Amino acid sequence: MADNLQRRRIVVNGIVQGVGFRPFVYNLARRYGLVGTVSNTSAGVEIEIEGIDLDRFENSLKNDLPPQAVLSSFATEVIPLRNYTEFSIGLSRGVGRVSTQIAPDLAVCPDCLRELFDPDDRRYLYPFINCTNCGPRYSIVTGIPYDREKTAMRRFEMCDDCRAEYEDPADRRFHAQPNGCPECGPRISLCGSDGREIAGAEQVVARAAGLLRDGGILAVKGLGGFHLACDARNEETVRLLRHRKNREEKPLAVMAADLEMARRLCRLDRDEEGALLSPAAPIVVAAARGDNGIAPSVAPFTDKLGVMVSYTPLHHLLLREFGGPLVMTSGNLSEEPICIDNREALARLAGIADYFLVHDRDIYMRGDDSVVMKMAGRIRPLRRSRGYVPRPIPVNGDGPRVLAVGGELKNTVCLLKENQAFPSQHLGDIKNLEAFGFFKEGIHHLQEIFEVEPELVVHDLHPDYLSTRWAGEQGILPVLAVQHHHAHLASCLAENRHDGPAIGIILDGSGYGQDGTVWGGEILVGDFSGFTRYGCLEPMPLPGGDAAVKAPWRTAVAYLDMAFEGNLPELPFMADHDLGPIREMVRKNINSPLTSSCGRLFDAVAAMSGGRQTIAYEGQAAIELMEAAGRGGKEPAYRWDIISIDDILYPGLRALIRQVAEDVASGISQAIISRRFHRTLIEMLVGAAERVREQTGLDTVVLSGGSFNNYLLLEGLIGHLEGKGYNVLVHRQLPAGDGCLSLGQAVIGRSWLLNNHR
Ligand SMILES: [Zn+2]
Ligand SMILES: [Zn+2]
Ligand SMILES: [Zn+2]
Repeated sequence: MADNLQRRRIVVNGIVQGVGFRPFVYNLARRYGLVGTVSNTSAGVEIEIEGIDLDRFENSLKNDLPPQAVLSSFATEVIPLRNYTEFSIGLSRGVGRVSTQIAPDLAVCPDCLRELFDPDDRRYLYPFINCTNCGPRYSIVTGIPYDREKTAMRRFEMCDDCRAEYEDPADRRFHAQPNGCPECGPRISLCGSDGREIAGAEQVVARAAGLLRDGGILAVKGLGGFHLACDARNEETVRLLRHRKNREEKPLAVMAADLEMARRLCRLDRDEEGALLSPAAPIVVAAARGDNGIAPSVAPFTDKLGVMVSYTPLHHLLLREFGGPLVMTSGNLSEEPICIDNREALARLAGIADYFLVHDRDIYMRGDDSVVMKMAGRIRPLRRSRGYVPRPIPVNGDGPRVLAVGGELKNTVCLLKENQAFPSQHLGDIKNLEAFGFFKEGIHHLQEIFEVEPELVVHDLHPDYLSTRWAGEQGILPVLAVQHHHAHLASCLAENRHDGPAIGIILDGSGYGQDGTVWGGEILVGDFSGFTRYGCLEPMPLPGGDAAVKAPWRTAVAYLDMAFEGNLPELPFMADHDLGPIREMVRKNINSPLTSSCGRLFDAVAAMSGGRQTIAYEGQAAIELMEAAGRGGKEPAYRWDIISIDDILYPGLRALIRQVAEDVASGISQAIISRRFHRTLIEMLVGAAERVREQTGLDTVVLSGGSFNNYLLLEGLIGHLEGKGYNVLVHRQLPAGDGCLSLGQAVIGRSWLLNNHR
């Protein structure tokens, strides 16, 4: 037997800190009668293990992981025996380079939830109950290794009971860094908008629920920041919230107490329910039930509702006490980042919230709720943030470290390190100073947590984005500009671990083109090292540039003017507008840049067919046009053509616009027009892909860009392309919109460095 006695050092990496990994190792070692140590180091979790049959131990280590743990690397070596007598958990040590990862924030687990409502438990109704399987992580961390000293919990001294749990390897709270209880942990309080406390810890939840029932608007401190909450069934209050928050029509999310309540609000399938109850607990955009009692102003003009289920213990207490669904929207003014600090919230939200439900555990990293939707057969993110970040996206290959700063709207930044990419949480629209501040915070925090010193900063080709300017002004590292749609293509390739080249069908609102025009309906061929533009939607004028983006009717007039060469037919929507100035701008080419944007094509068709004339939020006209189509109908596509000029393919828009106008003029319903339009666009894009396949022999197609949040377009294109034998790659972990840009920029940047630019 003694012959088999061996000692090994095992170093593992991945998400192995803050997920109950060391107690798992401890219990495993005891089960197999082994001795040694386990400790968190900044090189990973290091295990020294001594005994007989260590292979069995290693197998269990790899295969029976705690639910939230993810192994990205596993290294083992035999070392000299040291004849330990027991297995112990060592202190954390900072050694050299950091390579373990922090877990995302996790929704409260079923065990903690049971204790929360157990009158005999010492944490009965305690709003901060957590364990190694749940609770805050990324939002409270200041650095790694993940230990209490490097979290917002460092100011709370554990009481004897909590410490005993914390130090007992058999306990569910063994080394649970946010561990605490009513004696020693964080506390809640309720204040008025003047900051004065109006209820102590015992009555806070009951008082808060009462204020909500009376129509009050409550700011609630959550995991990644403040929410604004109000009764989702009270139309008057919801309208007031919209008015104060300056948010006109963009749908608001609703929080349900539990799955039962969520089911009464939306028709949910198994995947959607799974997402709601997952540790990430995102907002799930699903089909709203007609009789759900939700106030009309919560999600006007759409048949969908964004719903989530309580994910912190405080939410569970509040929702249970309130007894109905609550609007839960980011605590900010429209377009600004979510508030995290108590004083910041009081200052910035004082004009919006009547009351503040706060606590004394700080949030270090803000993060909005994530948003997902089921499209093309699976749950896909529309916004990747709390609950998912900072989980890495594995990528092929290794190479220099790169920081990519994304674009402008719905922005993220991304760090690329070895074979993993770390996209940040959703940072919002980097157009104002507050959002720009959040953008800088995001970069700083990512670099801090992962101790990454990049060799290159990559930014968008657009010279005026604040992110581009930041890249140019940081003044330390070399910079590289990457074209927007190339970044989309590369992002989708990287996420799918495909090195390309591939045909990219990239459809979105706008991106700065290499020729200085606004691109957005692109047929590209490329990989990480470069791309060629094989085609684009036929360019059309955009009268007034950004002004047209906010007023789809302007785009409709311009597209009609082009399509009919000045002889406009009379259509009902025109009655409300002064067409003259727009037509003049187009004809004289005054401030009317050309664009191949897919988003603007949707706008034009929507406005022409009686949809949105002006929009209250990005993409509204296109979303409503898509929803108008419903799911039925077998109307044929319009006739379409692809024009080829100087080797560039132009799926033709003039003929398409003319046929849409004919349908509108003859009183065809918007539902039918929408279905015919979607079908035509899909057939035309597949036709373009066919032409590119003939020329290149490529049969892998990448679909990326914000237009693929349109499930009719996404599902239609996937179906048609796969029917013709293409290998179709789409996003699964990142949004198809501009939240994915930074990953694409990062892999392009690495490729550029590797191709002898270092
Ligand atoms: Zn728990
Ligand atoms: Zn305690
Ligand atoms: Zn884009």
